[in-house]
Amino acid sequence: MQYEPVIGLEVHAQLNTRTKIFCSCANAFGGEPNTHVCPVCLGMPGVLPVLNKTVVEYAMRMALATDCTITRESRFARKNYFYPDLPKNYQISQYELPIAEHGQVTITLDDGTAKRIGITRIHMEEDAGKLIHDAGRPVSRVDYNRTGTPLIEIVSEPDMRSPEEAGAYLRQIRSILRYLGISDGNMEEGSFRCDANVSLRPIGTETLGTRAELKNLNSFKYVESALAYEIRRQESVLIDGGTVIQETRLWDSAQNRSFSMRGKEEAHDYRYFPDPDLTPLIIDGSWIETIRQSLPELPDARKERFINEYALPPYDAGVLTSARELADYFEECVRLVNNPKLVSNWVMGSLLGLLNSNGKTIEASPVSAAQLAELLTLMETSVISGKIAKTVFDEMVASGKAPKVIVAEKGLVQVTDSSEISAVVDRVIAASPNEVEKFKAGNIKLMGFFVGQVMKETKGKANPGVVNQLLKEKLG
Ligand code: ADP
Ligand code: MG
Ligand code: ZN
Repeated sequence: MQYEPVIGLEVHAQLNTRTKIFCSCANAFGGEPNTHVCPVCLGMPGVLPVLNKTVVEYAMRMALATDCTITRESRFARKNYFYPDLPKNYQISQYELPIAEHGQVTITLDDGTAKRIGITRIHMEEDAGKLIHDAGRPVSRVDYNRTGTPLIEIVSEPDMRSPEEAGAYLRQIRSILRYLGISDGNMEEGSFRCDANVSLRPIGTETLGTRAELKNLNSFKYVESALAYEIRRQESVLIDGGTVIQETRLWDSAQNRSFSMRGKEEAHDYRYFPDPDLTPLIIDGSWIETIRQSLPELPDARKERFINEYALPPYDAGVLTSARELADYFEECVRLVNNPKLVSNWVMGSLLGLLNSNGKTIEASPVSAAQLAELLTLMETSVISGKIAKTVFDEMVASGKAPKVIVAEKGLVQVTDSSEISAVVDRVIAASPNEVEKFKAGNIKLMGFFVGQVMKETKGKANPGVVNQLLKEKLG
């Protein structure tokens, strides 16, 4: 029997509003423990929550960006459970009437194919506090600063079929959140969290198998490796004739395996009911239109535009628009150099190569868009060769100096004067009688050898076009 994996993801994204969702405490990461708190977010008796309008607008932005239908009258609900990081003993969330439903995003797989992934729902809720367990001491402490931080939960349809698709979906969701400017999407810091649900079913069948839910996945890599592990585990259970049990499992990235945390809780365990402290949330059509008009150009649209406006291959366009800041960087560079494919090659090659190997993103680039444009202009105007440009780029990274300064200081200006190059060509020919003989006898591959020798002699500064031209003339 052959099995097919079925994956659905729940993503929690912290919204970067100025204040919390139901009170005016600062919504800020960190801070002295228990300083961004008030009676509302501490769950004191007799207080009332007041909904932050910006949270609703941010949720609407995400809903519209993912093609969801906005619920005109949605409701907040109490999700009841006891845990010391939740001082009210219930979390204010949305249940049977979430703010948005029935959306979709498109992901692009490595082979370039596009796939639609359905969004079941998006709802708003408050975050809980943070427990700090002291190693080796029988105490736990709690920091309520995070209590009441606004979250949206984005629930996908079980539409993904491999860990790679799950990874592509997460990157797409994160990219949209960041384009919208509503969340920083930082997985390592916990502002973008994912629970992954996975089950197997015999290929060709429709009915969903029993799922396991994986928690504690705080990097894209862990999501993909945890899913791959879980798929193998369920497969061996099924092949051995066993049954998969519905449960919540934790991923241990150090041991590279998951283990069972608890049986899966059911919705009725939470005794959801409408929160009597909050009125139904009514959203009118004109508000939706106002938000729709305010949306920025989103990753898919920007990718299409890059393909059409700059004649870039879809792959380049996809990479360059994956983050808004990267796309901005590219466009700033193109405004100054006006050779999109050249800029794309350098941004995707040298620059992203450097940033990735240092674990940095474009915001931390040691080379600004204007500096890269200056370097590429030197190349475009034949002041330096492509090979020298690579050397200058490395030097820009190391010293932070401007490309023109480096070229002047190191005397890297390309030699295009043919009389100067001609002398070198003559010397190279005179010094290599054996190669000249073989070349004349028909071994034309030796052209590369001669070009290499001239380049070596001129420390890479000779204009390759002129070198080739002269060699052809002189070698006959
Ligand atoms: P819960 O909070 O109980 O996990 P949700 O409805 O919020 O329930 O989330 C369920 C998630 O699990 C969705 O992303 C859904 O697509 C996915 N899912 C549901 N059933 C399966 C299944 N049998 N196999 C894989 N994924 C599933
Ligand atoms: Mg779940
Ligand atoms: Zn507060």
